[in-house]
Amino acid sequence: MLNSTGNSSKAFLEHKNDGIEWKTICPSCGLQEKIQTSPLVMDTSKVGDRYMVNVGIDYWIVSEKMAYLMEKWKITGYELREVIHSGKKPAQPVFQIIPTNVLPSWSSEMEHYYFITEPEERCQTCNIRGRIDYPYHYNKSDIEQNPIQDINIMKELKSNGSWAYRSVFLSERFRDLFALLEKF
Ligand SMILES: [Zn+2]
Repeated sequence: MLNSTGNSSKAFLEHKNDGIEWKTICPSCGLQEKIQTSPLVMDTSKVGDRYMVNVGIDYWIVSEKMAYLMEKWKITGYELREVIHSGKKPAQPVFQIIPTNVLPSWSSEMEHYYFITEPEERCQTCNIRGRIDYPYHYNKSDIEQNPIQDINIMKELKSNGSWAYRSVFLSERFRDLFALLEKF
């Protein structure tokens, strides 16, 4: 699972709210999901010399050099979408990764946990808010029918405490290629 590309706050960027709609998915706790209706809008100058950056939890963007490498490495399971620049400094060409391979449903044997000290955080209606999913568990037969790609997105929603989103998973091959990069 792709969680983070660094520990500093600079590793995460924010996007503007243009083209973002919030859809309420649980009438009980009011949990919402972000729906993207147009290209991502953000200050692209903040990407700097990085390869891949998380934007607003839900999205991953890559710089031009990373887009080039992904094509060279024949990375599968994604499309790139242009990102719209909004900011005072000059724009930098960056692209949003649109994962195209949706993973199968979790195995029914997968474990879920809940913070016992914060029972009010758990929502019995959606069973998403307050739920911790780990480790991820898929049935072998489901994966054989729907082979993983280098980039994959989870079918289920999980909560980050504020809203619901889908995790992105990378293949081992892609991870190993990343490791070859001097600076990430
Ligand atoms: Zn709920």
